Amino acid sequence: MDFKDYITVVSDFPKEGIRFKDITTLMENGEAYKKAVDEMADFAKEKDIDVVVGPEARGFVVGCPIAYSLGIGFVPVRKAGKLPREVLEVDYGLEYGKDSLNIHKDAIKPGQKVLITDDLLATGGTIEATIKMVEELGGVVAGIVFMIELTYLDGRDKLKNYDVFSLVTY
Ligand code: 5GP
Repeated sequence: MDFKDYITVVSDFPKEGIRFKDITTLMENGEAYKKAVDEMADFAKEKDIDVVVGPEARGFVVGCPIAYSLGIGFVPVRKAGKLPREVLEVDYGLEYGKDSLNIHKDAIKPGQKVLITDDLLATGGTIEATIKMVEELGGVVAGIVFMIELTYLDGRDKLKNYDVFSLVTY
């Protein structure tokens, strides 16, 4: 299956010059969404992962079904002010903007093997911040999975020390 057939490229969203990769059209198709999740879960299967971690909101769309498929838990990474208990906070730069991300401090136990998920790798800022949080809590990043990688933004340069899989590249 060519997953690109199900991803819609939207010009000038959220601002001029950006060709936004809209995954909602893939998610709307049950067969495509299931096949995409199965392929991403396959990458993680032999890695003995303890827990999946993903940033809101589209990191949940990728990470939660993978966690379900592997029969393990999912830990959300959220924008500041959304998580109710004690958090670790990390600042990060986006392809278009700046923000900070939070994770519950007790969500990852030292030594746990973590699979990090997101819908898309652009500059790598989001995933770099997520890695930092996982490692600060003592987790071991055993793999990173993206539905889409924009290779021309060189986000992978930030991920040289990690085992990275992306389903689709542009
Ligand atoms: P990065 O931090 O790697 O520069 O940007 C990746 C983050 O921005 C991801 O969390 C992703 O959800 C969002 N993002 C940036 N560009 C796009 C895009 O074209 N399509 C989608 N779906 N998300 C994007």
